Amino acid sequence: MQTQVSYRLEKSGQYGVELADAHCHLDLFDNPGIAISDARMGGIRFMITAGGNRLSSMSAISMADGDSVFAVIGVDPQGAEKDSNFVEELERLVKSNTAVVGIGEIGLDYKIDVDRGLQRQVFEEQIEIAKSLDMPIVVHSRQALDDAMAIVKEHMVKKAMFHYFEGDENQAVSLAESGYLISIPPFETSRRRRVINAISVGSIVVETDSPVVGRSPIDVIKTAEWIAQIKGMAFADVAHRTTENVKKLFSI
Ligand SMILES: [Zn+2]
Repeated sequence: MQTQVSYRLEKSGQYGVELADAHCHLDLFDNPGIAISDARMGGIRFMITAGGNRLSSMSAISMADGDSVFAVIGVDPQGAEKDSNFVEELERLVKSNTAVVGIGEIGLDYKIDVDRGLQRQVFEEQIEIAKSLDMPIVVHSRQALDDAMAIVKEHMVKKAMFHYFEGDENQAVSLAESGYLISIPPFETSRRRRVINAISVGSIVVETDSPVVGRSPIDVIKTAEWIAQIKGMAFADVAHRTTENVKKLFSI
């Protein structure tokens, strides 16, 4: 039986390139160590693992080795109710851990039953912390993109990645023009195809959000193949460019 990993090994060997998974949750894997080594064997050079509350942020820090794994830490909309006081610790944690490369995931989620005023307040507090540290933010937005975009622009954020981008091509172009990155998950939709068509590869990164959405960081290979096909580019170019975009945003 050919496993997914051996199949991907073959593919990455064939391509001879290495990709970055711009957003995953390694702490949610049953065995994060195996997930990381499988990803490395499968052609993934490094992963950005994201926290969203105190516990997951501390896990992200503990897994970040500054080589295969980097961490972003923060309080997401779900975490805003219980862990808003964790925001006060972010600055110290960022300063004492070199493998922490950003603040995230932070943002707005109108699908969940958490007070929107509180979500906004916690989002804005963390944007200001990121700005004071000259760090990028990783934005989570679900059914809230117009508001999330407006807040990021109002605060004149310089470095941001919109993770699991949910918007349309006009919103994508507007974000790309502001210098922000659009992160594409491993799910093909016609709307997402239009987004990929509308912006340059210089504004695109690939992610899996695994294990929540993708099964493994290796799934970025599928997304990069899809982007290459849509844009009529070589897979190796898409892999290289998207990886460079991640490196540049997070100063890796
Ligand atoms: Zn996520």
